[in-house]
Amino acid sequence: MGKNVEAKYALLKMHEIDSMYDRIRRRLLLLRKESEGSTDLIALREKVQTIDEELHAARTEQQDLELESRTLTERIRESEQNLMSGEVSNPRELEALQSSIDSMKSLRTELEDKSVERLVMVDSLQGSLQEKRATLEEQEQLWSERKAAIEAETDRRKKEYVYLKRAREKVSEQLSEDNLELYEHLRRRKNGVAVARLEEEVCGACHTQVAVGILNNVRYSDELLNCPSCGRILLTEE
Ligand SMILES: [Zn+2]
Repeated sequence: MGKNVEAKYALLKMHEIDSMYDRIRRRLLLLRKESEGSTDLIALREKVQTIDEELHAARTEQQDLELESRTLTERIRESEQNLMSGEVSNPRELEALQSSIDSMKSLRTELEDKSVERLVMVDSLQGSLQEKRATLEEQEQLWSERKAAIEAETDRRKKEYVYLKRAREKVSEQLSEDNLELYEHLRRRKNGVAVARLEEEVCGACHTQVAVGILNNVRYSDELLNCPSCGRILLTEE
């Protein structure tokens, strides 16, 4: 009698250890996934980067336009001086000079229009960059706190995992080779759960009503019995 009582106790222990083991493994997987960072945060970082690049490009374009416009103003001024100086007297040359001044002025207006458009764009980009940067800063702060918590919990869970591994080895030594094999076999085939506790008159794993004859055997005999429905080893608490 004594031998199987011990086996039943060890099987229940194994069951408890493995349940915790599985919970910790699932939790560790989740933590590892979470430690990669949220997709929202990564998207926000990229957004800030993009706006920053757009702002830089708009500023450069605006400065180039302004420089071009200033150069043009200088050339217009020289041409106008030339026109006023009286050095050019040929009507055809005068006409050509005037026409060149007119087209330079019209080009300058175009450049100035574009420059103003870029300035408006720079202002708007600056505004949204500031806004997004503030949000990013908040998110980064929250993330660094979360990350520290993830790392701390990961360390703790790993220690628990190692502890359970050792506990499992100890308990498995208390089981006969046959019982251990049976347990592992059922665990592989039954979704990681080899043992079911008897809850009142129902199998704790598949929730099927267990016949009275089997109930009594599970409760009072030292035989190892399987749930007729799901096949798991049926055990009582005591
Ligand atoms: Zn069952």
